[in-house]
Amino acid sequence: MKLMFLGAPGAGKGTQAEIVSEKYSIPAISTGALLREAMANGTELGTLAKKYVDSGSLVPDEVIIGIVNERLSEKDCANGYILDGFPRNVSQAEALDKMGIKLDLVVNIHVSDERIIKRMSGRRVCKECGKSYHVESSPSKVEGICDVCGGELIIRKDDDPAVVKHRLDVYHEQTEPLIDYYFKKGVLVTVEGQEVKDDTTRLTLAEIEKVRNK
Ligand code: ADP
Ligand code: ZN
Repeated sequence: MKLMFLGAPGAGKGTQAEIVSEKYSIPAISTGALLREAMANGTELGTLAKKYVDSGSLVPDEVIIGIVNERLSEKDCANGYILDGFPRNVSQAEALDKMGIKLDLVVNIHVSDERIIKRMSGRRVCKECGKSYHVESSPSKVEGICDVCGGELIIRKDDDPAVVKHRLDVYHEQTEPLIDYYFKKGVLVTVEGQEVKDDTTRLTLAEIEKVRNK
């Protein structure tokens, strides 16, 4: 099963991707998380990506396509995977097509810009393991500390309000055309992002089950 989550920054793609990953035992591949990991480790890729990520612009296609290609050739991807944050524009989607990869389902999580902006201001992420939290909707057990690894929770540099605004512009301009792209391929479903994360999960799993039973 090859799935992809589409949606604005902060729509909840990563959260849903993790839940679905556990349920079906297939890896969730987040290009954003791969980039943040590279940045934290100060690798060549991380150094290159930093200025794009911190300012909320897209990292060049050839860089991202290379990373994804490599990641998808790993053993754990043999039974399927969930793409989170890739493809993010039409040329990345075409690159995926050229790799011979056919997605079974693209779940478009819809959340209004207004709600996105509200959500992002409460977002926190573990400095060590990357798990994300929200001060209101999914707080950690101990404030400022990761439930999973005890790491410190920080605000992502690109969650700054001005950067969020730019990321939304980038989303509308470059990523939103993918809704039409995948609709035309007959693999798109839209799920209305709910305030309560479990409600979005229920809607999402119902769509995945329909495809699995086909
Ligand atoms: P969000 O979905 O909340 O914006 P991500 O973690 O998916 O967060 O992405 C964070 C940043 O990483 C993006 O703003 C962009 O700079 C970079 N990035 C992630 N995925 C891609 C991609 N497929 N192509 C180009 N840049 C990407
Ligand atoms: Zn952690």
